[in-house]
Amino acid sequence: VTWTPEQGWHDATLKPYGPLTIDPATAVLHYAQEIFEGLKAYRREDGSIWTFRPEANAARFQRSAHRMALPELPAEDFLTALDTLVSVDRDWVPAGGETSLYVRPFMFASEVFLGVRAAREVTFSVIASPAGAYFSKGVKPVSIWLSQEYTRAAVGGTGAAKCGGNYAGSLLAQQEASEHGCDQVVFLDAVEHRWVEELGGMNLYFVYDDGQIVTPELGTILEGITRHAVQVIASDMGHKVEERRISIDEWRDSAHSGRITEVFACGTAAVLTPVGSLRSPEGEVVMGDGGAGPVTMAIREKLLDIQYGRAEDGYGWMHKVC
Ligand code: PMP
Repeated sequence: VTWTPEQGWHDATLKPYGPLTIDPATAVLHYAQEIFEGLKAYRREDGSIWTFRPEANAARFQRSAHRMALPELPAEDFLTALDTLVSVDRDWVPAGGETSLYVRPFMFASEVFLGVRAAREVTFSVIASPAGAYFSKGVKPVSIWLSQEYTRAAVGGTGAAKCGGNYAGSLLAQQEASEHGCDQVVFLDAVEHRWVEELGGMNLYFVYDDGQIVTPELGTILEGITRHAVQVIASDMGHKVEERRISIDEWRDSAHSGRITEVFACGTAAVLTPVGSLRSPEGEVVMGDGGAGPVTMAIREKLLDIQYGRAEDGYGWMHKVC
C-alpha cells in the first residue's frame, strides 16, 4: 500500500514475495524514516489459525509512526492487511511444538529525494516467514552482558518507537556482548547510566523472594506486548507487579543476597526466557541457581497455553484469522 498526501493510502496489492526495486535516492536509505512490528500466527490442533493481540501491534505501530513523522495507518487497515496475508499464506503456518508464522509489517519513506524532511510518499508492506521454536532443546537461561559504553535511548529520543535506527544503534553493543561470551546485551539509561532499561530486543522482569515482580517503567523503552501480558498473568497468579526504576546496583546486590530469585526477559520471539547471569568487567552475578526459575516457567507456560489454544483465553487476547 502506498501513501501520498494527495491520495492518502491507496493501491493496495497482494503479490508473490520478491525483491523491491528501489531508487538509490529513496529517502529511507539515507534518513532511516522507517518503522516495523513483529507478531506471530499460531496453528491450533483443529487447523485454525490465530494471532495474539494484533490490535496492540496496530496501536504501537501508530505510536511509532507518529514519532517518526510517518502517516498514520488506521488500525482497521493494519489488521485487514495482517488477516489477508496470513489467510493467503495459511499453508505456511507450521504445526506442532512452539512453531509459528512470524509476521513483519513495516512502513518506510519511499519518496525519492535527498532533502531532510518527512517523506511525501510512504510504503506499507507485510511479509511473513515460518519460524521454528525459539528453544529447540528445552528452555535454556541466557547470559547477559552489561553494555559499558553504549546506551539505546535518550529521553525525548526514539526509544519507545519500533524503528530500525534503534536496532542499528544496538548492534555494536550486541557484538560486544557476543565477544564476552554472552547471549544478550542489557542497556542502562543514557543520563545517569544507572537505571536498567531493556535488552536489545526484549523487556526485563525481576522476581523477588516475597513474590513481588518488578519491571522497569516505560519512557525510553519499547512498550512490549509480551511485557503487558506478563503483567496481567502474573497479577492473576497472585503476584504483586510493580513498574518502577531499578538500578544496576539493586539488581546486582539483590541477586547476590538472594532477594532477587529469578530474572527473565520477554518478547514475541522468545516469549519468556530465563536470565542465568549478568556479566560486566566487575564480574559475574548468577541469578538464583542459574537455572530456569519456577515463576518464570509458570508464567511462560500459561502464556504459551493461551497462544496455542491449550488454555482458555480469559482476556480476549486471541484473534481468529481463519
Ligand atoms: N524491547 C525491544 C527493543 C524489542 O525489540 C522487543 C521486540 N518487539 C521487545 C522489547 C518486546 O516487545 P514485544 O513483547 O511486543 O515483542
